[in-house]
Amino acid sequence: MRFEQVIGHHELGAKLRAGAQAGRVAHAQLFNGPEGSGALALALAYARYLHCSDPADADACGSCLSCIQYDTLQHPDLHWSFPFFKKDGSDHSLSQSFQAPWRERILQGTYFGQEEWLAAIGADRKQLYISVQEAVELNRKLGLKAFAGGWKVLILWLPEAMRIDTANKMLKLIEEPTDRTVMLFVSEQANQLLATIRSRVQMIQVPRIGMDDAVEGLKFWFGVGEEEARDLLQVTDGNIVRAVRMRGEEGADKDYQLFVAWMRACYTNDAITTVELSDDFVKGGREAMKRFIRYALHMIRQCIVGNYGAQSLVRLTESEREFTTKFAPFIHHGNVLEMQEVLEHAHRDIAGNVNGKLIFMDISARLNILLRKPATTVLSQSQ
Ligand SMILES: [Zn+2]
Repeated sequence: MRFEQVIGHHELGAKLRAGAQAGRVAHAQLFNGPEGSGALALALAYARYLHCSDPADADACGSCLSCIQYDTLQHPDLHWSFPFFKKDGSDHSLSQSFQAPWRERILQGTYFGQEEWLAAIGADRKQLYISVQEAVELNRKLGLKAFAGGWKVLILWLPEAMRIDTANKMLKLIEEPTDRTVMLFVSEQANQLLATIRSRVQMIQVPRIGMDDAVEGLKFWFGVGEEEARDLLQVTDGNIVRAVRMRGEEGADKDYQLFVAWMRACYTNDAITTVELSDDFVKGGREAMKRFIRYALHMIRQCIVGNYGAQSLVRLTESEREFTTKFAPFIHHGNVLEMQEVLEHAHRDIAGNVNGKLIFMDISARLNILLRKPATTVLSQSQ
């Protein structure tokens, strides 16, 4: 990953390079940006730039030994850490056994999120975290001399996955840095980090990618056509990772079809169809079920946004828009909060391993009642 390959963030990139050129390199930096902002891409381009032996103003040279090692992610002084799970039967809890899939994932491209990482390591039902043992190991590694004599760089993805004891161990490294060490934390939710960590790192806010840059990025990295790219980014509010996800999973259209059929069945209390649909619901496994529930939440929120006349804020594709024009009147302030609660609760139940079909039948019955609530209920009570 070079700066020229990073989607958008041109000013931020220039600032980072200028700092490096001037020798202003904070030893602990936190790139904080939401999923799809490309914070990881930016951190990786920056690490390459720091290690490059002949960097130009605009980018790393691309041809020195260090750059060549970066092409295959084999630079001996570039260290990675990220959330992982403890393998069954293993007595240690280190990222070591996940380094190979991690490298493979990064070489495929740095625009991915937790969902893709979970899938890459087959961690469907497992809780990911960064262990204390991992923090101890990082302390050890960064205490060693650099192989190539320059910077030792650590990129730690999702520091919010550190538990308190882990974070405290890392804090020591932040407070008493080893020689020529740069730690780049890449976070999606920095507010979940210990305040003591946040106050000791140089914070770099990575905003969402602007629409035009995001469209170009989708075209460049994922070969998506202009029109489809705009459509996807419109729906995902410029989140490239989610856009790719929606497109990749034949899922997107399937979710839409299922949602439409389901809402009809819920409204008419059609039990036979609901049972049939529950088969489709559970077919793709837990991640697919969770995705569908999130999709349903998204659609319901969009109905409300549209109902309140904020059409420009509505994030929907053409066919979704067509359906919601008819469906939106059934969603109103008298039932929307409860509908959201029902769905959010279902999302938690799925994550907690409750039987998918039971969940589906249960929420269908609840939604039937809620959808039939008249829009005026709350008003008439308050009058
Ligand atoms: Zn170079």
